[in-house]
Amino acid sequence: MIEVIEKTEDMRNRVGLIKARGQTIGFVPTMGALHDGHLSLIRRARAENDSVILSIFVNPIQFDRNDDFLNYPRQLERDLDLASGEDVDVVFAPGAADMYPEGYSTYVEVACSLTRGLCGASRPGHFGGVATVVTKLFNIVRPDRAYFGQKDLQQVAVIKKLVKDLEMDVDVVALPTVRDADGLATSSRNQRLTNKERQTALSIYKALERARELSISGEKSTKVFVKEMRDILKKAGIIRIDYVSVVDPETLEEPDQAYPEAVAAVAAWVGSTRLIDNTALGVGPEPKLFLQYKTQTVS
Ligand code: AMP
Repeated sequence: MIEVIEKTEDMRNRVGLIKARGQTIGFVPTMGALHDGHLSLIRRARAENDSVILSIFVNPIQFDRNDDFLNYPRQLERDLDLASGEDVDVVFAPGAADMYPEGYSTYVEVACSLTRGLCGASRPGHFGGVATVVTKLFNIVRPDRAYFGQKDLQQVAVIKKLVKDLEMDVDVVALPTVRDADGLATSSRNQRLTNKERQTALSIYKALERARELSISGEKSTKVFVKEMRDILKKAGIIRIDYVSVVDPETLEEPDQAYPEAVAAVAAWVGSTRLIDNTALGVGPEPKLFLQYKTQTVS
């Protein structure tokens, strides 16, 4: 039986025991409904640390819409089986009242351009909620390394800035996006898609692939990238697009002229589900790399 801890105080005590043994801690924060993307982070954490702690917490303060919070998939039993199969040492699954007890009043804001554009523009308060929960979780778990997915490109940039600005003693490790065989990035929210919506959602991946093709063929104008990507989404029947952009992966600013390290990024609604994805323009067959990554086993 995998060890599950719900109370923050119990988790802090458990971490104290791990530290007293001189063991390193790899930490994977998630909101649960685990999929292959999460498992890739866990596997890397397992390979690089003595102890692996996985958190499962649907963080209410990072949701900008209550219906999204209420409908967010929750499947703890299945998640525990998956975590157990990956040899996770401890699952930290606090309740909202443990993390934010009555009277809770401290919030962390990464107040710079990194949080203003892209998802920051369409999800007010989201990154404040993320920065707050990550700060709290880092204080409780005291990880040596923490693992995040590049699918949430902006989140990675914001957390790196948070860690740097607050001098947190943790290595932030960002890992590639894991995709299903057809290219759709794995996501807990994919569960909410109907079969038809899932087909529509594939156009997000197709738009990103088109951006890569354009880049490889020598196109430089970000205007052209954005227009072609938007056209693909619209043709597939996506009407609500939060953003389509080409950005620098560190500053998240959109250059006039694209370059291989720049990242094409999309946030769009398929029915009532908001999906995000991104890809480096780079060169080479990215999907194959992803699939290779997916099947890679870490001993
Ligand atoms: P979430 O449970 O959605 O908050 O995600 C927890 C972590 O898993 C975050 O660091 C995400 O970036 C990462 N993640 C989510 N989807 C993927 C994916 N398809 N590939 C790799 N990492 C992912």
